[in-house]
Amino acid sequence: MQKTKTSQKKNKTGPLIVPRAEHTISRSAISRQALQVMYKLHEAGFNAYLVGGCVRDLLLGQRPKDFDIATNARPEEIRRLFRNCRLIGKRFRLAHILFGRDIIEVATFRTHHENAAEQHGKSHQGMIVRDNVYGTIEDDVMRRDFRINALYYNIADYSIVDYVGGMQDIKDKTLHMIGDPTQRFHEDPVRLLRAVRFLGKLNIQITPETEGPLMKLSHLLDHVSPARLFQEVLKIFQGGATLTTIHLLEKYHLIKKLFIYSPAGKTLLDLALTSTDQRIREGKTVSPAFLFAVILWQPVFEKATWLEAEGTPAYLAMEQALQQIIKQQTERLTIPRLMQLSIREICLMQHRFTYRRGGHPHRLLEHPRFRAGYDLLLLRAQIEAPIQELAAWWQTFYAASFEQREKMVQEMNQKPSSNKNNRKRKSRKRRTKSKLTQTE
Ligand code: ATP
Ligand code: MG
Repeated sequence: MQKTKTSQKKNKTGPLIVPRAEHTISRSAISRQALQVMYKLHEAGFNAYLVGGCVRDLLLGQRPKDFDIATNARPEEIRRLFRNCRLIGKRFRLAHILFGRDIIEVATFRTHHENAAEQHGKSHQGMIVRDNVYGTIEDDVMRRDFRINALYYNIADYSIVDYVGGMQDIKDKTLHMIGDPTQRFHEDPVRLLRAVRFLGKLNIQITPETEGPLMKLSHLLDHVSPARLFQEVLKIFQGGATLTTIHLLEKYHLIKKLFIYSPAGKTLLDLALTSTDQRIREGKTVSPAFLFAVILWQPVFEKATWLEAEGTPAYLAMEQALQQIIKQQTERLTIPRLMQLSIREICLMQHRFTYRRGGHPHRLLEHPRFRAGYDLLLLRAQIEAPIQELAAWWQTFYAASFEQREKMVQEMNQKPSSNKNNRKRKSRKRRTKSKLTQTE
């Protein structure tokens, strides 16, 4: 029987309890393994809740990435219950329950322990550097960032436990910080990026008291490690709402804290992100290296053009520009070596596409990064008129049979090379127009 609104309980000090009949989370939408873990904890006499992003996403009708569980059982107690359990983490011990390739993360309630943090655990910027004290569910609620991220789905009666007004925010589609936003952003500046990511991904509004500080505190990101920032950027790239999120990063002055970014590259980036978001909606993957290549292309291009104007040969200019820009970029984000190499190759290929004679085109087609480089070329062609003929040629070449390809290259071999004739004269005069925009 459908219960009435009055069955939602709220005592003076206690939480709002939303019974099963009054919320939309059905067990069929929860991972089987997560349910199994919670039932087992519950049967052993512990409290067990689904918590965080998964509860939020289910209530908003989105599919959660992962299912996290919070409990009052201590890590050792969790380990005793599950054979397939690994305890991980030094700073804070978490239990991972393994089901083949799937992992369910179980965390004991913890507090950020205000007093301890004030005495020992905060750096000069007020950031929390110690985070390892067990607590009650109330403590666990208060250390979370946003109210919509602090809802607990109780396996004991399938109700939702709400200490901070998260259910109201879900209804109003608003993002609201728990506690004082300025202080919470100082404690952990990554929350600036998380705020923007949720705004983009969940299509919700930010409350003015959270937005005010968000607008002003981008400098706090200077104190966050490049490794952690890289992890956040990956989440942004894979969230399926990258276009909106990047626009919000711009709006809140955060984009330059993450990327070597030139506003002149905005149109190219928008085009690329529209298609990658579409890919994610279709369940396909996106290559972070490709997105980095798109973002860095404009600054690399500007630098290479400048080096060329100074007399550096085109290919060398491109290589040097890439080296410098990637170096600057990795000072902000710890991009893994292999990914750096891919970014470099995708950008360098933009130059190699201009060689359409002899064995060049055939060899380029075999390049492991060809597809990504080619995709970037086609995107560029949508906005750079001078390379449209080149991009069209490559489209035909890519789709052609081996014989047709041979014929296309032979035609190119017979064409007089305009570049070669001009090269000497130009280098004496100091070239101003980049070869990257010319075609053979
Ligand atoms: P998603 O997984 O969709 O990116 P999420 O909210 O689940 O979003 P996680 O990083 O998986 O994000 O974290 C799980 C939960 O842990 C969050 O919902 C939030 O309650 C809490 N949390 C994570 N990072 C922070 C943080 N920096 N400060 C405070 N609470 C956090
Ligand atoms: Mg999550």
